[in-house]
Amino acid sequence: MSILYRSDAPRAAAWAHYFRKFAPDLDFRVWPDAGDLDDVEYLIAWQAPAEFIAKLPRLKVFFSSGAGVDHVDFSALPEHVPIVRMVEPGIIDGMVEYVSLGVLALHRDFFDYQAAKAAGVWNPLEVPPASSRTIGVMGMGALGRAVLERLASYGFDLRGWNRSLRVMDGVESFAGPDQLQPFLAGCDVLICLLPLTPATKGILNRELFSLLPVGAALINVGRGPHLVDADLLEALDAGQLSRAILDVTEPEPLSAEHPFWAHPRVFLTPHVASMTQPESAAPILLENVRRHQRGEPLKDVIDRSRGY
Ligand code: NAP
Repeated sequence: MSILYRSDAPRAAAWAHYFRKFAPDLDFRVWPDAGDLDDVEYLIAWQAPAEFIAKLPRLKVFFSSGAGVDHVDFSALPEHVPIVRMVEPGIIDGMVEYVSLGVLALHRDFFDYQAAKAAGVWNPLEVPPASSRTIGVMGMGALGRAVLERLASYGFDLRGWNRSLRVMDGVESFAGPDQLQPFLAGCDVLICLLPLTPATKGILNRELFSLLPVGAALINVGRGPHLVDADLLEALDAGQLSRAILDVTEPEPLSAEHPFWAHPRVFLTPHVASMTQPESAAPILLENVRRHQRGEPLKDVIDRSRGY
């Protein structure tokens, strides 16, 4: 029974350590020291290149090493191989920290004070209560719900938008394309935590921005292609949007000449909002392998037809 890890090299040792300690019956291999590929039944990887997958005749399960699967070529994986995405506390905690930091920095005008300091200006602004700000989350999945739960602890007015209706205490819920407009109409800060699919590509566009209150801010922690860059720049320059915090771009890394780098109201981070943490992810992945071995249904299998 063998598992091959072919992902983020610096964290491979922590994965191997966990499996060798807690699952000595499983032959845990780390790429490129993969041994005989004919034996590999479980693959933990970021991508599934067709020519590589073709070399794994006994592959039973593909585990994505990240939360999203938009980078995975589904067609390279035979239909009988389930695709499992990464849902683990480390990714969730990282995302909750990042989005909370962004929302609080916007709420407490940190970016304005940074600019004021650079200009040598002492200019105290009003401090409105958190309850006076409406924060909207697009995508009420594992990450979106955790973010909403944490933001609730600060007292923000919260709303969420999702494909299917998700009911959460203290959150006004909206569902589907028909309810996108009323959802957006109240959002002072809009957070994108959608998966990237044909239905969500380019969703952060001129029309959507025009439905937000004037001066709203955007936090995109989904994927770069959710955003139409030119539409964001136009909305920022017209004052329709006040600021954008972007953790994801298209492409990554962002090209050196891209206007986001120099834009004073775009805050950029290099896709670090959250990362899979081997210490918390390995036990969850191992439990899923055990479920598979026992013939039980796997957790967190994606729906190929929906794309997430
Ligand atoms: P998830 O649990 O699969 O949740 C996705 C949610 O989005 C679901 O609730 C789903 O609705 C909803 N959704 C899907 N398509 C939709 C549509 N067309 N309209 C409205 N709602 C839609 O995913 P997750 O774990 O929360 O992760 C979300 C995304 O975050 C990932 O796909 C990835 O792109 C991104 N991410 C980014 C980072 C980073 O570091 N920046 C890290 C991790 C993840 P249903 O409930 O109806 O299915």
